[in-house]
Amino acid sequence: MPHVLDTSVYVHFPWCAKKCPYCDFATRKRPAEAIPHEAYADALLRELVLRGDLRGRRLVSVFFGGGTPSLWAAEALGRVLAGIRGAFEHEAPELEVTAECNPQSLTAEKARGFAAAGVNRLSVGVQSLRDDQLRFLGRLHDREGALRALSDAAAAVPRVSADLMFGMPKQHAMDAEIEAVLATGVEHVSAYSLTIEPGTQFGELSRLGRLEVAPDDDVARMFQAAEARFAEDGFAHYEVSNYARAGAEARHNQHYWRGGDYLALGAAAVGCLGEGAAARRYRNVKDGDAYLEAVGGAASAADVEGWRETLGPEERIQEALMLGLRTTEGVDLGALEARLGCDPLTGREAAVERALATGELVREGGRLIAPRAQWLHLDGITARLF
Ligand code: SF4
Repeated sequence: MPHVLDTSVYVHFPWCAKKCPYCDFATRKRPAEAIPHEAYADALLRELVLRGDLRGRRLVSVFFGGGTPSLWAAEALGRVLAGIRGAFEHEAPELEVTAECNPQSLTAEKARGFAAAGVNRLSVGVQSLRDDQLRFLGRLHDREGALRALSDAAAAVPRVSADLMFGMPKQHAMDAEIEAVLATGVEHVSAYSLTIEPGTQFGELSRLGRLEVAPDDDVARMFQAAEARFAEDGFAHYEVSNYARAGAEARHNQHYWRGGDYLALGAAAVGCLGEGAAARRYRNVKDGDAYLEAVGGAASAADVEGWRETLGPEERIQEALMLGLRTTEGVDLGALEARLGCDPLTGREAAVERALATGELVREGGRLIAPRAQWLHLDGITARLF
């Protein structure tokens, strides 16, 4: 059989019921009844055709992200998923299909509808289980709503993940939240620290000196406490921001962290497909309405793109190091060399030797790994390799 390329698909849904004050994702506020559910599905299917021949590729995961995909009509999402699966010649067994959901729009009926459409993993944006923190984050749900959504998700699909956030003002611990989330039986948790992004409401407040966030020491303490608490429950800290029971890891994300090809569909979606030692990365036009218009008049996929670049081997190596060193499995140097046709450590031998000597990095078999104890210092460690 000729070489088959494993490929993930990311579908971006560009609307939310409300814009959260910390969020810099490409998304706009729009009430559910004003969302062009079917027109957006039609546009995605049209873009899929424009993206060309997918024969010779094996579909390994599909991820509906956003934005808030749980605002989308399940039938429309199902049509898109069926179109994607039909376009690939090969498909991985037990294809992972994830949809990101917000508790406010994930009703029991929506969860069942997504499951019937073929979604088998729901990622729920819990963020916190404290009502004061949820209000601070501008979320539309409360603790009860979050717990209800997790339970509705678990009743509908076999795999559920919860997102948690830490690093909020006056937050010194998140033990109680972790406890409550674990009690729901989820097998995967993503825990992110709150980052203040320019161009957001929080970014503006911070610029004016009117936003308090947790000091770095508190954030580091919470990061370590979370790791210890998850480990007690049998969760592996398998990537800086992700914890999972064995076998419950997010396969879509792992494919991305390992430098796999991913096709992106939808407004603002970013895709990256290898072309020999190089890769072509693109991002579609950002706004949902502009995307619909662009697809309508597009003669080729390039007409839907707002931006594109070609990554050479060195850029691909840097990206592989940045992403891979955030994971317990690290970077598979042999696989990277086979993919790019050059030794990824050439030109950085001295920096790698120094990092190995200080214990910032270790080599295990053919892998370069950052030990977990070093994860709070990863930015500096990777920067010294470039
Ligand atoms: S719901 Fe999610 S994507 Fe939408 S604005 Fe809030 S954080 Fe951003």
